[in-house]
Amino acid sequence: MNPLVPELIADYVPGMIQLAYLLASALFILGLKKLTSPATARSGNQMASAGMLIGIVVTLFDHNIISFRYIIAGIIIGSVIGVTLARKVKMTAMPELVSMFNGFGGAASALVASGEYFRIAPQQFAGQELAAMIISVLIGTMTFTGSLIAFSKLRGIIGGAPIVYPGHKLVNLLLFILFLVFGVLFFLDAGNPAYYLVIAGLAFLLGILMVLPIGGADMPVVISLLNSLTGLAASATGFVLDNNLLIVSGTLVGAAGMILTLIMCKAMNRPLSHVIFGAFGTADGGVGNVVQENGKTVREVTAHDLAVMTVYAKRVVIVPGYGLAVAQAQHIVREVADFLESKNVDVRYGIHPVAGRMPGHMNVLLAEANVPYPQLYDMDEINKEFARTDVVLVIGANDVVNPDARSDTASPIYGMPILNVDQARSVVIFKRSLNPGYAGIDNQLFYSDNSYLFFGDAKKSLEKLLRALKMV
Ligand code: NDP
Repeated sequence: MNPLVPELIADYVPGMIQLAYLLASALFILGLKKLTSPATARSGNQMASAGMLIGIVVTLFDHNIISFRYIIAGIIIGSVIGVTLARKVKMTAMPELVSMFNGFGGAASALVASGEYFRIAPQQFAGQELAAMIISVLIGTMTFTGSLIAFSKLRGIIGGAPIVYPGHKLVNLLLFILFLVFGVLFFLDAGNPAYYLVIAGLAFLLGILMVLPIGGADMPVVISLLNSLTGLAASATGFVLDNNLLIVSGTLVGAAGMILTLIMCKAMNRPLSHVIFGAFGTADGGVGNVVQENGKTVREVTAHDLAVMTVYAKRVVIVPGYGLAVAQAQHIVREVADFLESKNVDVRYGIHPVAGRMPGHMNVLLAEANVPYPQLYDMDEINKEFARTDVVLVIGANDVVNPDARSDTASPIYGMPILNVDQARSVVIFKRSLNPGYAGIDNQLFYSDNSYLFFGDAKKSLEKLLRALKMV
């Protein structure tokens, strides 16, 4: 009997545990719902965290709890690592951190399922529990090794370029078939741990070999997919442990991650299969060759001219992109916007869904600088406004404003919805060079009659602009 539970209420405990799990699940769902708007996201996060706390506390009252010594040690070590990482991580390194979280989530699911296998006599498992165990080991282990490769690519530990060899897809297919064969053998003879170790080993290899051929620049989509898979692994482990909360929360993570993955693919106008099986983009983004057509020139603007242009404008739209994150220019951009507003300029931000390198990247950055939410406009909303806009400031964005996506059927980004900044009276592009962005392609916007380039690091350029504005 659980020593924490008085004898009197022992009979009611299982029902109370399930009720608490139900409450925690409801908090997760409501929390997720609130995450759909920046205005309610913070309280949504708190709500889901409360659900998690209930889940953890209640699980401690459940049976089969290991010694509290291990739990407390785990909480202390995990909290120290988590708090240190969360405080230290740079915004641009967020995808790497998420990828590690996914990896450890997957590994935890696979290890818990394995723990159950080695703890309980295999004959005691029902068919569906064995099937869930196989799924958990496959997805959890694959997610772990796949995430380590994704992390290494983003960190530059291994090259970001797709690593392929002749017949790599066939090898992956054969490994997967082998996994299925051993999965069936394990199912039929669960008492033989050799089968279990072989399927774990194959899943380990599959994770590595699936992610190696994917280009570093596609890693954010892969990470979102791995995140979804982590959820499914946790859900499968929930079936092994017969734990309803793990089943529900794992499924929520799985579904949310998959929706996010599909949204990212849709916003890039690329099918998921193309991301997973087709190498695309430069390794690191922003370092590809400059593809400049003969005879084309760009016009530069000075800080003073730009200050005059913006301060006398009725409406200015700011379009942030990956370069804003690299330069960490979110605070200074807000200062510029505040200054312009104080001069009665209508300032708005146009946010493309895949600007930056992770979903919501720009929203998170701008929220960090306390940019008011009502100033943030989604792509569809702001696209209606460009024709009535005097000046657009494109800050470190490139692909998401490339008009080739609308008109050049040969362009790799053809069909990707973009922000139609070229419809504004003037467009000023803040970047350091004429280098391309993530997709590695030239941008006709730079050469159009109403465009100006303001070269330099985005943060330094905005500081120059602010100084000039104060002198106009
Ligand atoms: P891009 O990668 O197209 O362009 C970024 C630009 O920022 C570059 O042209 C670079 O030019 C400039 N830049 C880099 N550092 C600085 C700096 N310090 N100061 C000023 N400029 C700088 O970014 P976008 O945001 O326009 O597009 C995002 C791309 O990423 C899209 O192609 C999208 O499909 C892809 N993607 C997005 C994902 C997401 O979830 N958001 C996921 C996967 C892919 P220069 O080097 O000359 O300064």
